[in-house]
Amino acid sequence: MRRVHIAPTLLDAQLISDTLASLGIPNHILNVHASGALGDLPFMQAQPEIWIEDDAQTERAREALLHMQTASASDGAPCPRCGETNPGNFLSCWNCGGALGG
Ligand SMILES: [Zn+2]
Repeated sequence: MRRVHIAPTLLDAQLISDTLASLGIPNHILNVHASGALGDLPFMQAQPEIWIEDDAQTERAREALLHMQTASASDGAPCPRCGETNPGNFLSCWNCGGALGG
């Protein structure tokens, strides 16, 4: 068992858990029930944690997490040239190649 992520909310943890599971990475959410005792615990300890069963899959899990975080980093921005919506981390439009970020 190895911890690969600390999620801000249980909803995030569930989403990550489902995604990892769909990639064939068995995992568990720990600390799920700790939120009820928030007053007694340091804040960080009450957040849901994602633990994977197989340490050998740590790198794969981290990579998947990175992709998820990048994909949800922004809602996306419309291209000023063609109006196509691009992910927020794109520097140029995937459709027409025009520069974004303005
Ligand atoms: Zn464009």
